[in-house]
Amino acid sequence: MPYGFFPVALAALAAAALPSRPVLVESAGQTTALARKLVLERIDAIAREGHCSAQFGQARIDLDRVRRTALRTRFYNSQGPEGNLRFSEVVGKAASPDGRLRELSRSLTADAFVLGYQEGSGYVRTKHVVLGRGYFEQPDSREGSLRPTTGEEKQALLLHEVLHIALDVDDDDLTRRRLCPLRLLAFCRRGAGGSEAAGSE
Ligand SMILES: [Zn+2]
Repeated sequence: MPYGFFPVALAALAAAALPSRPVLVESAGQTTALARKLVLERIDAIAREGHCSAQFGQARIDLDRVRRTALRTRFYNSQGPEGNLRFSEVVGKAASPDGRLRELSRSLTADAFVLGYQEGSGYVRTKHVVLGRGYFEQPDSREGSLRPTTGEEKQALLLHEVLHIALDVDDDDLTRRRLCPLRLLAFCRRGAGGSEAAGSE
């Protein structure tokens, strides 16, 4: 196919020359779709279970608001291709240093965290959540080995991050409301098994 070859080769070159950002954004779109699905399942389960939704009501947390926030939050897998995205590309604000999500994730002990920045005397939480290694793997009971996190652990961690955004509060406040992942699981237990997902931001 001598006539077909050249244009195809040119097209391949043109594609290679394009910036990788659209690909990364598309990849993050998949991460977002998956994470949203998981956290919305959790929120719906809480809403359905009377005891659980009562606990949220007592803590003055509007589950509809949490649901709306989850639908507007974007999630990034720092361990995958979108880990190459820089803070400024995701948040749309200049940063110095303008770290890549992978680097930011490595520099924190959190399993997941909300991207935010200082503005004047206040701290601005964005609707961008970075998923660190701890979202995907946790230490096994056997020393040194790792096991994949369970769906339940992922849901608890995602919900914790969405609560940071929906309520605009830090970990101290979430802990005061007894809403750290471990306690969420304790009073809204579904199935067996504790979570090692503490230490999130
Ligand atoms: Zn937190």
